[in-house]
Amino acid sequence: MDRARLRHLLARESGEAERRNPRSKAAYERADHLFGRVPMTWMNKTAGAFPRYLATARGARVTDIDGHEYVDFCLGDTGAMAGHSPAPVAEAVRRRFTESGGATAMLPTEDAEWVGAELTRRFRLPRWSFSLTATDANRWAIRLARAVTGRPKILVNSYCYHGSVDESLIVVGPDGRGTARPGNVGAPCDVTLTSRVAEFNDLSQLEEQLAHGDVAAVLMEPALTNIGIVLPEPGYPAGVRELTRRYGTLLLIDETHTFSAGPGGCTAAWALEPDMLTIGKAIGGGVPAGAYGLSGELAERLLGRDDLDLVDMGGVGGTLAGNALSVAAMRATLEHVLTDEAFAHMVKLSERFEAGVRAGITAHGLPWSVSRLGARTEYRFARRAPRTGTESAAASDAELEDFLHLYLANRGILLTPFHNMALMCPDTTEQDVDAHTGVFADALSDLAG
Ligand code: PMP
Repeated sequence: MDRARLRHLLARESGEAERRNPRSKAAYERADHLFGRVPMTWMNKTAGAFPRYLATARGARVTDIDGHEYVDFCLGDTGAMAGHSPAPVAEAVRRRFTESGGATAMLPTEDAEWVGAELTRRFRLPRWSFSLTATDANRWAIRLARAVTGRPKILVNSYCYHGSVDESLIVVGPDGRGTARPGNVGAPCDVTLTSRVAEFNDLSQLEEQLAHGDVAAVLMEPALTNIGIVLPEPGYPAGVRELTRRYGTLLLIDETHTFSAGPGGCTAAWALEPDMLTIGKAIGGGVPAGAYGLSGELAERLLGRDDLDLVDMGGVGGTLAGNALSVAAMRATLEHVLTDEAFAHMVKLSERFEAGVRAGITAHGLPWSVSRLGARTEYRFARRAPRTGTESAAASDAELEDFLHLYLANRGILLTPFHNMALMCPDTTEQDVDAHTGVFADALSDLAG
């Protein structure tokens, strides 16, 4: 990689973004009352000096306030995997909010049992409860796991992401031991008091940690998706299940992103047998929603415990969780939008996206790799697809990533800001995918000089 050339191109694309997006730039400069000038600080994770401001979004298309249209492969980092404002969700939300009336009344609606039954059909766990975010689903599932096992610790994979969950902000340090993830903001205590960590795809490290006998649950994604995509090697998922059973540890699978693998996520696609499962983002079709599922045996054991306050302030609930609006949106999304047929279409497009990226990489002889998980594809700056989170973290290249994101955005294509990830939704078309393939090839040619 010619770094001088890369820097020159990055400066050129930054200049182009300022020229193309004066309104977004001005809106950002005016936002004095927002912490970090944005409604959420990670909106500052954008290639270039300011974020583009959203004007409209429908299906796989987004427009900004400067009047530019984008093919959106970011899709709200999975929150909009059903496409932006899909018609059945818009209709269900309108009906619930205006026609029937009532978004949040602390009373159940009949939609909730429909959603529970559908989640059972898809993910094979028989009892469900709702949250508004995947983070909260994970927090509550962790508490339940500790309560039911009487064990204090949670084990996660190095460089995982499960939301702003204190117990998960741990990595394997250079000395092979667990240590706080760099940058962790205001940790309540030393993370090694609450957590253990093992590299993804490393069963011997996992066994070594579980053998301490203090791990309530292994919280994991079936494939890592937040440090690039790291796919499991053959035998790894079955090995995790076998070891967790052997050491009396619950297996808690987070399908929030790996839902891209199919209608029942990796759990259905790979016949995983979790004790608990969490999911968020996409299942609400853009409306805040999350859920956790429990095995029948766990649900019974928990409900049978008089000492646990599952009803009031015991730490496993939220006032708006399971509200009528959120549940109506989940039902519409699962019943009419993220259907089995929709996934077939999305996966086919993702294969096309992967082939396009691979062709570009091969044409330029670049030492990069591509990984795909159903409707989600990601390219990584490593010759061999990384097999652990630490390997994948080592392959990141912020400058190169910023250049690609800016180059694509300036030409009407959005990727997920945190990495080179592209997601398909039911409205994505072959033309959209080919548009990325073309611009990606041009970016590589520009880089080559
Ligand atoms: N789990 C996984 C696997 C995620 O990728 C994320 C967010 N990227 C979360 C949980 C947390 O989701 P949220 O921020 O919507 O709570």
